[in-house]
Amino acid sequence: MTIGRIERRGLMLVLSSPSGAGKTTISRRLLALDDNLAISVSATTRPPRPAERDGVDYFFVSEEEFGRLAAEGALLEHAKVFDHYYGTPAGPVQEALAAGRDILFDIDWQGTQQLAQKARDDLVSVFILPPSKAALKERLLKRAQDSEEVVARRMAKASDEISHWAEYDYVVINEDVDFCLSQVRAILDAERLKRHRQTGLVDFVRELREEPVP
Ligand code: 5GP
Repeated sequence: MTIGRIERRGLMLVLSSPSGAGKTTISRRLLALDDNLAISVSATTRPPRPAERDGVDYFFVSEEEFGRLAAEGALLEHAKVFDHYYGTPAGPVQEALAAGRDILFDIDWQGTQQLAQKARDDLVSVFILPPSKAALKERLLKRAQDSEEVVARRMAKASDEISHWAEYDYVVINEDVDFCLSQVRAILDAERLKRHRQTGLVDFVRELREEPVP
């Protein structure tokens, strides 16, 4: 992509949060607002939920297929989350980055750590926190009509995920969805302008400074 006329390298924007912090809403709205951002579709061994489509929400694969992808090195990162395996197919990410497109990842802290090891310079990680414990519990309760016990288990999982907040580049609190979205967009805008991502700057500046040939 070019900013004005400047070529730049794409970046990898990771959004992580405990479930119930509003991450899905933020990602959907961010994607709808930004033409240069595409979502990375993960592979998973989890069975599809009723509204989910193969190849759109996830690539739903068997454990055998997942193991094969991991062994072939076709996954940029992978992890076991709750009871299932999840992983990021490497090919689409590498193509997008090289073409200057940015990619959004909805992955957990384990995946974020692996991406940081492999591609620190391309990574921008954002952790979304709920505004309070009460709000988190309310959102988890609203999500499904589960028993107190199920909600308590989810709260414990959320607490575990939250403990990784300090590993992220940015932390935003989702008190108001519109405001939170504007903060994530501000992060993305500023990160796109980072000098090391603007690969066309050297030529651009050379041209600015060149004396005209007589
Ligand atoms: P869900 O099953 O509710 O769609 O996702 C469960 C969790 O897995 C979420 O926290 C989500 O961010 C995480 N997740 C989804 N895809 C990936 C992936 O490719 N890699 C990793 N490490 N986590 C993922």
